[in-house]
Amino acid sequence: MKILLTNDDGIYTKGIEALGEHLSKDHDVLVAAPETEQSAVGHAITLTDPLRVKPVNRNGAFFGYAVKGTPADCVKLAINELMESEPELVVSGINLGANVGINVIYSGTVSAATEGAILGVPAIAVSVNTFKNPDFQPAARFARLLVRLVEQHGLPPHTSLNVNVPAIPGNKVRGVRITRQGVTRFVERFDRRVDPRDNVYYWQCGSTPPFEEDGDTDACALASDYISITPIHHDLTNYGFMESLRSWSFPSISDE
Ligand code: MN
Repeated sequence: MKILLTNDDGIYTKGIEALGEHLSKDHDVLVAAPETEQSAVGHAITLTDPLRVKPVNRNGAFFGYAVKGTPADCVKLAINELMESEPELVVSGINLGANVGINVIYSGTVSAATEGAILGVPAIAVSVNTFKNPDFQPAARFARLLVRLVEQHGLPPHTSLNVNVPAIPGNKVRGVRITRQGVTRFVERFDRRVDPRDNVYYWQCGSTPPFEEDGDTDACALASDYISITPIHHDLTNYGFMESLRSWSFPSISDE
């Protein structure tokens, strides 16, 4: 398959390198990824600045295109300009740190996959559940096998898979759980500091507290040493509330 590979941690990271190595064994992979880290930029796109692109070599060979933009920019630009023909799959990752619960909304990794799905290309986002001394190999091996399954089964229109892999050796992983997005979230704290010119500034330094959910959520599966796969789409509609909302008496705004 022809695969577009991107991420949000930046083109020079080990996560995208590991994924590129594994996927290239079976597929024609083009890398287009942010030049610098774009974690937590969500689905932002760049409108007021140019999108500068430069080829990047790693280990003495062409690796891909560094884009001075967001993950969603990378996907749009690659599909419209950098690739000769449309990819059959977009893969985003491997992200350093899990993308589960509410954090999925902020995730540049997941947004790159969602962008692929919006443009009509099936997509997978892959994250590993640690920020320290990550071994990307188990997640990269799993991604390669999952890509084969996606090739075999296909995905429904506008759907992508949000995959989170526990940070444990592959033989300790208990299996795969199909999950729903939970409500685990980052709880913000702002460190108040003073710069050398006596101006006050703040640095966000929140953390994710121990989650209090159980059942079939993404965070729950990860905490139980399972790989979590959540099928996601961009439709934010709360269908269950539509009928009730229609019954409200909306006022007229025509001239009195
Ligand atoms: Mn990231």
